[in-house]
Amino acid sequence: MALARAKRLPPLHLSLNVPSRPAVQEPSFRHANPPPVVAAPQSASTPLARSSQFRLSDFDRLAVLGRGNGGTVYKVRHRETCALYALKVLHQGDAAAAAEADILGRTASPFVVRCHSVLPAASSGDVALLLELADGGSLDAVRTRRGAFAEAALAEVAAQALSGLAYLHARRIVHLDIKPANLLATTAGEIKVADFGIARVLPRAGDHCTSYVGTAAYMSPERFDPEAHGGHYDPCAADVWSLGVTVLELLMGRYPLLPAEQQPNWAALMCAICFGEPPVLPDGVASPELRSFIAACLQKDYCRRASVAELLAHPFVAGRDVLASRCALQGLVAEA
Ligand code: ATP
Ligand code: MG
Repeated sequence: MALARAKRLPPLHLSLNVPSRPAVQEPSFRHANPPPVVAAPQSASTPLARSSQFRLSDFDRLAVLGRGNGGTVYKVRHRETCALYALKVLHQGDAAAAAEADILGRTASPFVVRCHSVLPAASSGDVALLLELADGGSLDAVRTRRGAFAEAALAEVAAQALSGLAYLHARRIVHLDIKPANLLATTAGEIKVADFGIARVLPRAGDHCTSYVGTAAYMSPERFDPEAHGGHYDPCAADVWSLGVTVLELLMGRYPLLPAEQQPNWAALMCAICFGEPPVLPDGVASPELRSFIAACLQKDYCRRASVAELLAHPFVAGRDVLASRCALQGLVAEA
């Protein structure tokens, strides 16, 4: 049976046997209170050298962007340049922190959140990742704010998330936790794959995984019930399944594999993912291209599931009106 980190199931109320984590210590950088007057215009993140001379004390904390199993993410401003960043403060002593920093250090893609620097927090011993700020927040937050996504915007989400996965998989990096909360958006209409807390670098291309940590609701059948599949799985195919659930969730405006009134406990998820079928979408809810795209992602037999390359060439993605899709996504992400 798969292991899932409880905090990775916030709306699912699952009580699982999970590794405990130390309490989060507040990092030792200055809290902007009251916020200083900004002389220069606020700008989005600008690249910094990865091994920069920056220290946590160079930044003012402006807001909490998110809290998760891996750490707490703050919106921060570099005091000297006024550039804005996201700062993910990772828990002390967590080997996953080093792994996440290592994986982010290997990536440089417009479809993957950029890590500018890794900063030690002197007093607490925590490690903080200085990330580019995705000013639209996570797709989970966008869905909460704006409801179900229009199909044009969804095509752009799919295209950019797939481009991110193609980039990662080509470098033998598998994400293993694709979900709306881990895809970030910018108000320019960009999508960036984020949160590499449980990502892996495969020793060889095509290797299978035996790690079953992740977010249960987005796990593919072969990850959820490994015993039934030889105890290992193709992690690239697993990422595709999770993207399919994500796209369907954004289309429906809610978690799609359980009825709205169903309590999402372990047994219900097991039944839905391993033995059930994806919901039948009513007429008019989705084009044939989108239906076919979702069906290709949510093939229960991972050998028959579409690959990232096949999905990039799928008519739902390749046939989209690029400009209109990007505008639709931009409109959705922009504050109401
Ligand atoms: P979890 O364990 O819940 O998956 P986590 O602790 O590993 O999460 P992240 O997923 O990296 O942490 O970040 C948590 C949240 O913080 C995200 O869902 C998002 O809302 C916000 N966030 C993270 N990074 C950024 C960023 N670069 N720009 C804007 N918001 C961000
Ligand atoms: Mg996350």
